[in-house]
Amino acid sequence: MLTVVCETPGSLLAQDRQKPERAPGETLVRIKRVGVCGTDLHIFNGNQPFLEYPRVMGHEFSGIVEESEAGSGLVAGDVVYVMPYLSCGDCIACRQGKTNCCVRIQVLGVHRDGAFTEYLSLPHAFVLKANGITLDQAAMIEFLSIGAHAVRRSDIQAGQRALVVGTGPIGMAVAIFSRLRGAQVTVLDTREDRLVFCKAHLKVSSAVLIGAEDKQQLEHLTQGEFFDVVFDATGNAKAMERGFEFIAHGGKYVLVSIVRDTISFSDPEFHKREATLMGSRNATVEDFRYVEQCLRDGLIPDAALNTHRMTLSEVPERFQMLLDPTQGVVKAIVEC
Ligand SMILES: [Zn+2]
Ligand SMILES: [Zn+2]
Repeated sequence: MLTVVCETPGSLLAQDRQKPERAPGETLVRIKRVGVCGTDLHIFNGNQPFLEYPRVMGHEFSGIVEESEAGSGLVAGDVVYVMPYLSCGDCIACRQGKTNCCVRIQVLGVHRDGAFTEYLSLPHAFVLKANGITLDQAAMIEFLSIGAHAVRRSDIQAGQRALVVGTGPIGMAVAIFSRLRGAQVTVLDTREDRLVFCKAHLKVSSAVLIGAEDKQQLEHLTQGEFFDVVFDATGNAKAMERGFEFIAHGGKYVLVSIVRDTISFSDPEFHKREATLMGSRNATVEDFRYVEQCLRDGLIPDAALNTHRMTLSEVPERFQMLLDPTQGVVKAIVEC
């Protein structure tokens, strides 16, 4: 079967690999659609320092059940998507249902080989039946779920103000689910094209360009009160530190993106607000099912989010293009 392997940073090779055998307790999935994530771009660029190469990328995917077994709830022909964070089920986090931050988490396409291939055999629990949505939509559930999880953690309420800093796909997902909870959403980014996209497709209330006047603009937009919840989705340490300034008194700060740095903040500024600081990592099955329902209900502008497509065999040639900011890529989907 065709498999695209990231051999070393910058090099993607098409290989012919053996189709996997389904083991007991597993479902064999024929992969049909794979979303390209920022993580994949980092792997390709060599910015994932603890990743071992060669690696087959791809953790956002949907497909069709090729073979399963009684008791799995899945039969051949079912349209499915995969929760790519393989959790152990018995660590302290898993025992609390927080499988998203399992101590021994193994993420497909990062810690073990992912979906830039034709078949994967996976434990039933991570293969979820997609009811009444398309393969394209099912392949978009993972990144949307990361946003949905962050919004659920924030517990933002209708009428509250949300600020989303960073409008890559994850920031966009945070904006979508904040708005679905009735929040007034402002987005902040350095990229004008992304702000235009958010206004056109995500129904955000305001979009502010990062620059010398941005804080005054945010102050003005909120009558000097700033934001009940600030979400960081920048992947930038300086931006994460700066976000503390935008929290309202009594507000929350949710760090969705991750950096390999130490970040710091002023304790008096933090304390006088009685701010709540939280991390948000991955998503749980509850978030995946909620996003699936939102897609079924037509609440997500998934067609607009899917800006680019290519086939699996085109990946070695065309993947590089997705890194070019002038291409306006939001979510690329690979067809297998
Ligand atoms: Zn992803
Ligand atoms: Zn665990």
